[in-house]
Amino acid sequence: MKFNTKTIHGGQSPDKAYGSVMPPIYQTSTYAQSSPGQHQGFEYSRTHNPTRHALEQSLASIENGTHGITFGSGLAAIDAVIKLLNPGDEVIATNDLYGGSYRLFTKIYERFGVKFHFVSMKDAASIEPLVNKNTKLIWIETPTNPMLNIIDIKKMAAIAKSYKVLLAVDNTFATPYLQQPLDLGADIVMHSATKYIGGHSDIVMGALVVKNEALAEKLYFIQNASGAIAGPQDCFLALRGIKTLHVRVQRHCENAFAVADYLHNHPKVAQVFYPGLTSHPNHHIAKAQMSGFGGMMSFTTAEGTLESAVKIVKKLKYFTLAESLGGVESLSGHPASMTHASIPKEEREKVGVTDALIRLSVGIEDVSDLLADLDQAFRL
Ligand SMILES: *Cc1c(COP(=O)(O)O)cnc(C)c1O
Repeated sequence: MKFNTKTIHGGQSPDKAYGSVMPPIYQTSTYAQSSPGQHQGFEYSRTHNPTRHALEQSLASIENGTHGITFGSGLAAIDAVIKLLNPGDEVIATNDLYGGSYRLFTKIYERFGVKFHFVSMKDAASIEPLVNKNTKLIWIETPTNPMLNIIDIKKMAAIAKSYKVLLAVDNTFATPYLQQPLDLGADIVMHSATKYIGGHSDIVMGALVVKNEALAEKLYFIQNASGAIAGPQDCFLALRGIKTLHVRVQRHCENAFAVADYLHNHPKVAQVFYPGLTSHPNHHIAKAQMSGFGGMMSFTTAEGTLESAVKIVKKLKYFTLAESLGGVESLSGHPASMTHASIPKEEREKVGVTDALIRLSVGIEDVSDLLADLDQAFRL
């Protein structure tokens, strides 16, 4: 089955009760048993829910995995991965990371004795000196949020395999339409399904996909034992979002390319960070491992000040100033004071998240309206 068919049919079959084509929202906590322990595969909705199951099957299909495991948020999904570890274990993570992931690692899990190393992964080999016998997990994001750095997944997977370390990839920015980390050798794919998977800015949800039975069993155990599950209504919406993922992301890419090109040539812009531009340092890796460059980008103002960035985001009309990304509507953000405020200023600035940085989630509106909006915001 090709990807554009998988989004619609992958892992799906008409509901057994009445043949409904869309999976019903099984808004129930429990299921009748005919005698103790005699049930139809569902006992309690923390453990299993048919709507959630349909979504998990769909996610496994579009990521070329065998098992999908969903959670109440992207961070709950990451939390489940870290719960695979024990005190004393070490994680190597990219140093340009979603702020909430950084906060979870440093503020929660360091207290439980898990050690995190944050390192630039523009060159995959640069992690090797950090690997030791306690290293259990490599955590990467590519493209990264918000600097759009690209990490070579295949190379990283080869390193992870040689040291018998798990490789997890946060695939939120790329989406499975553009990049399939399991095929490139990763062990775990993670999504904030809040973003492109849901695609309509109406849910908060997280997902993991794996292709290894034993690893899946461990993660299902954590999903049930810790209980940060996704509710049936949200699962239904995510499943509906997936059905148009391929058409949405295709348009996101087209619009983003035009916006990146516009910004790249604008006198009031200093630098544009978009993997589709040939000026991007790892453009060649993006080209090799992604089938398109996505809808996310960031740029710095030529003035280089907080005021200049704030002035622009306040003037934008179609690019609503808001956290989050990946919905059909365009959004703008100021990472230093919004999504990445939980990272200390020195740490932030080291990776390029300066006060003059603006992040755009380019939506699927008519691109000429988006360019006109940017035009009026720059014309101050
Ligand atoms: C939003 C986001 C997360 C966290 O997901 P939530 O659904 O907000 O918990 C993790 N990684 C990336 C790249 C994100 O953009």
